[in-house]
Amino acid sequence: EMFGQLTSGLEAAWTKLKGEEVLTKDNIVEPMRDIRRALLEADVSLPVVRRFVQAVSDQAVGVGLIRGVKPDQQLVKIVHDELVKLMGGEVSELVFSKSGPTVILLAGLQGVGKTTVCAKLANYLKKQGKSCMLIAGDVYRPAAIDQLVILGEQVGVPVYTAGTEVKPSEIAKQGLEEAKKKKIDVVIMDTAGRLQIDKGMMDELKEVKKVLNPTEVLLVVDAMTGQEAAALVTTFNVEIGITGAILTKLDGDSRGGAALSVKEVSGKPIKLVGRGERMEDLEPFYPDRMAGRILGMGDVLSFVEKAQEVMRQEDAEELQKKIMSAKFDFNDFLKQTRAVARMGSMTRVIGMIPGMGKVTPAQVREAEKNLKLMESMIEAMTPEEREKPELLAESPQRRKRVAQDSGKTEQQVSQLVAQLFQMRVRMKNLMGIMEGGSIPTLSN
Ligand code: GDP
Repeated sequence: EMFGQLTSGLEAAWTKLKGEEVLTKDNIVEPMRDIRRALLEADVSLPVVRRFVQAVSDQAVGVGLIRGVKPDQQLVKIVHDELVKLMGGEVSELVFSKSGPTVILLAGLQGVGKTTVCAKLANYLKKQGKSCMLIAGDVYRPAAIDQLVILGEQVGVPVYTAGTEVKPSEIAKQGLEEAKKKKIDVVIMDTAGRLQIDKGMMDELKEVKKVLNPTEVLLVVDAMTGQEAAALVTTFNVEIGITGAILTKLDGDSRGGAALSVKEVSGKPIKLVGRGERMEDLEPFYPDRMAGRILGMGDVLSFVEKAQEVMRQEDAEELQKKIMSAKFDFNDFLKQTRAVARMGSMTRVIGMIPGMGKVTPAQVREAEKNLKLMESMIEAMTPEEREKPELLAESPQRRKRVAQDSGKTEQQVSQLVAQLFQMRVRMKNLMGIMEGGSIPTLSN
């Protein structure tokens, strides 16, 4: 399985935090060691690993506790966000020329999958409604030209060839003219690959680049080469100037080093990834999806994200003050109830929530129904009544009016008012315990 080893290496880190209440400088030492080891074993380059571990540690100890989220879950989220950042954050889209054909120059060592990528890329762009043409520039291997012609036929894209006796830069020039004549949208040029970087290859690429003035210069690298891929991207960028990389063979048992190192080491993004031999197996590189795949904990991630969101939406401190001074009113009640309902509906998606135990879908539906009921009654209250629930507690006439305006019974309104006062008492008690220094912990 792709990244399987990295995934299980990281899992060791979360396990060490089971049973902890908060993340501290001390209790993250071991998990950070696991993370470091997992990344090194995945062949991520050492400086990248160092920076990564530092960034995660800094955040882990500085982070505020999110209510209901356990330290191991919180660390998963921090590592996830740092992985996304490491891989460039956003997806890096291909750039298209605004005037004349978009020209994509492909470079790469032999055997990395460059010829295959040519055809895959044409196939991918054709599906987006763009007309494409391939140019066969690998003049040293007649077989490479034949292969490109065959693949071009397979995906229904014309291939410009000029044999092996013409210089690649000349082929590029002719091919581009042909494409302009035919009003082709995207031209993709295949170039010769060597077993290793050599001056001849670089000079040839530079010449071809000068002739084509390409919109994109993409280096095709093999994911199986790990951090070596990042070093190659750097070298090609320094030598000829590239706009990004295409990572191939991600379907093999790649350890992840290439995907994690390329952007950080070279400064150039991975734009596309190949994950198979079929023509359909090329897709954009999505850092967030990749990070999610590496961690293999989609449920935890979405849970922490939603808990953070719920936290943000409440002004916790203000709420606490209000509770302490017994001013918790119907506006706060509504806010609180909505937050709880949101947490509840999450359980349907992920089937887990600390402190709430198992919640059945029926219970969630019931809670959502209750929320609607309360909302309609609270909406029928005047702003004054919402802020001073005492007004309703003292006046049957007011309760009657709310009942009529919301289409509910007087009994339902009385129940709601009583519930608010019960909640005030409960919260005051809870706050008392917290003030006393022993914070009640939630458990499953
Ligand atoms: P080139 O020498 O760089 O032009 O490499 P080729 O395009 O000829 O590809 C070399 C081999 O790698 C071929 O057998 C391809 O089918 C295979 N290949 C290319 N891309 C991928 C990929 O994403 N996944 C897998 N599994 N194989 C690939």
